[in-house]
Amino acid sequence: MNTNTDKSTISVVVPVFNEEECLEEFIERTAGVLGGMEETSELILVDDGSNDASPAIIGRAAEKYGGYIVGIVFNRNYGQHRAILAGFAEARGDIVITLDADLQNPPEEIPRLAAKAREGYDVVGTVRVDRRDTCFRKLFSWIINRMTAQATGVRMRDYGCMLRAYSRPVVNAILQCPERSTFIPVLANTFANRTAEIEVSHSERTSGESKYGFTKLVNLQFDLLSSMTTFPLRLLSFIGAIISMMGIGFGTLLLVLRLILGPEWAVGGVFTLFAILFFFVGAQFIAMGLLGEYIGRIYLDVRARPRYFIRERVGRSSLPERTGKKI
Ligand code: UDP
Ligand code: MG
Repeated sequence: MNTNTDKSTISVVVPVFNEEECLEEFIERTAGVLGGMEETSELILVDDGSNDASPAIIGRAAEKYGGYIVGIVFNRNYGQHRAILAGFAEARGDIVITLDADLQNPPEEIPRLAAKAREGYDVVGTVRVDRRDTCFRKLFSWIINRMTAQATGVRMRDYGCMLRAYSRPVVNAILQCPERSTFIPVLANTFANRTAEIEVSHSERTSGESKYGFTKLVNLQFDLLSSMTTFPLRLLSFIGAIISMMGIGFGTLLLVLRLILGPEWAVGGVFTLFAILFFFVGAQFIAMGLLGEYIGRIYLDVRARPRYFIRERVGRSSLPERTGKKI
């Protein structure tokens, strides 16, 4: 440990979307954990356009813990990752920790995460041991983790767990990125030099429900893949090339068999041809869909609208303000 570590400051950034059932408990527990740590800290709660009592709870908490809790309220729902970005723009700490408000990631893990980050890691990820989510979610995550590791070249076992710590340089780098669709853990890894993963426990959601329905989940995965890398596009051409070669090979085979076995046989092959045709048409649709995803995102970035609008800001932090450009 070096001398700076004594002075290190921590920002905890939490996106909140309709979490009235658990938010109070979350704030109490997190404040308790942070209060027990040596470092000076701040808790930044970003309300992502909730239409329940969450903004009011944040407002009350900001009053109760003056100089310590900062609340940011969006004018509508922009999604978890944009909420975190707003929190990053506000954060003043040397280490920035993100976690969910639903208590699935226990706030009691924060000190361990901070300790690991202080060892000099740019990003500290977490792996959910004994993950408490539906089988469908787990399977989805498994596939995505594999693909992401391939695409980014940074092996991490659990990209989906949002309980993570980021160093100040990585947060600054993320804030410099103007793109609209982002998946923060992956974006962070593109700027990180040293990364580590620790195991944390995971609990079931005790109140409220997951804010990720099927469509939102699919959307998030597309954001993840398309915004960080062009790997899927390359994969697409690769698969396309293989399919075409198989097509040519198959065509030749059919021709040869037709010559050897005669025209009666070939009539029997009509349905095989249909099957092949469907296969190609399907492959093309997948390819076009994927291209559409990229083009859609390019369109959004070309329009370059602000990523979010803040309706209200409550509370203040007692951490020293950071100078330098923020976006
Ligand atoms: N969240 C958000 N905006 C959204 C969806 C979710 O800020 O549009 C927040 C939510 O309040 C929670 C975190 O992101 O703090 C993770 O959401 P959730 O627990 O619903 O996701 P899951 O655990 O099911 O992946
Ligand atoms: Mg959750």
